[in-house]
Amino acid sequence: MKEKIIGKSLLELQNFVKALNEPRFRAAQLYSWVYEHAVFDFDAMTNLPVDFRKKLSESASIELFPITSRQISKTDGTTKFLFELADGKKIETVLIPPRSTAVDAEERMTLCVSTQVGCPLDCKFCATATMGFFRNLTTEEILNQFFTSRRQSEKRITNIVFMGMGEPMLNYENVMKAIDLLTDQKGIGISPRRITISTAGYANFIKKMADEDRKVKLALSLHSLNNAVREGIMPITKKYSVEDLLSALEYYYHKTKKSVMFEYIVFDGLNDTDNDVRLLTKAARRFECRVNLIPFHSIEFTNPHGISATLRGASPQGIETFWKKLRANNVPVFIRHSAGVDIDAACGQLAAKEEELIH
Ligand code: SAH
Repeated sequence: MKEKIIGKSLLELQNFVKALNEPRFRAAQLYSWVYEHAVFDFDAMTNLPVDFRKKLSESASIELFPITSRQISKTDGTTKFLFELADGKKIETVLIPPRSTAVDAEERMTLCVSTQVGCPLDCKFCATATMGFFRNLTTEEILNQFFTSRRQSEKRITNIVFMGMGEPMLNYENVMKAIDLLTDQKGIGISPRRITISTAGYANFIKKMADEDRKVKLALSLHSLNNAVREGIMPITKKYSVEDLLSALEYYYHKTKKSVMFEYIVFDGLNDTDNDVRLLTKAARRFECRVNLIPFHSIEFTNPHGISATLRGASPQGIETFWKKLRANNVPVFIRHSAGVDIDAACGQLAAKEEELIH
């Protein structure tokens, strides 16, 4: 098996070149070619001696993903990729252009990456849950989503959100290693402020991120502050209660002074009552945050049953009414637009399906 170069840190590359009997500085050269210049062909690495390039091609590989399918939204240009991994498993990655009205429309391009094949958390509103869980992605597979999508993108990718398939906190080491590589100013060089990691609610890892002083942004998929309601739609709440989450976020805020983003799908009658307004208002006074109200994206294509089949998203007017009530209480709240709905590429709609192979 050839060693994969993508995903290796500088230190790992140093060990790798040492094993090939090459001087240590070759590792930095290799690192720069791959991460800074995105050159993936050893023969094009012109400052490396020919015999070292030969040794590299024999013992290592740098390969982008084969793209199994690529769907482009007719309404907003959002592109959904289906990538095939070495073991035949498939993952989805979404490239999201800004809305043309956005202030930074010219320069922004967001990539939504997956962290696991499937997901074990079984959130009742999420399409990925219906796939079940297969495995964690490696650092190489996380970074390769970025490299392969970037080749396909007309514009530079400026922002990354860890909001694709899977729960990033359950793959903490590989995700953080990918983030370290993405944000290294001597390499890929994306600012950590342009990277968001979203969790369904692992209080322990939220505290860990605070202790490690991670510079990336943190989002929490909240959806309800009522334990019983949240437990019904997000079973993870049995492990970490709403109060566990809020106190972890309080800890996070006091340690990092960074504001937290809440994601909140508005379900008709389930989490948009006056009591929910009261609970959100109270939570928003505990630490700096912003609440993003998200329309529920249909997962009808997964043939939902049980609780999943009963969920109804609030109407646009319903979302606006809820928004107004929160605004009136000075909660920093925003209604988030959806991208890629027509190609099932919006939040929570990622579920790599075999039949997509025929597109
Ligand atoms: N596991 C992580 C990241 C993946 S989900 C997490 O839970 O945060 C990315 C976002 O999409 C989360 O906020 C999730 O709650 C939201 N989401 C899931 N299903 C959705 C749906 N059907 N409609 C709208 N948003 C959804």
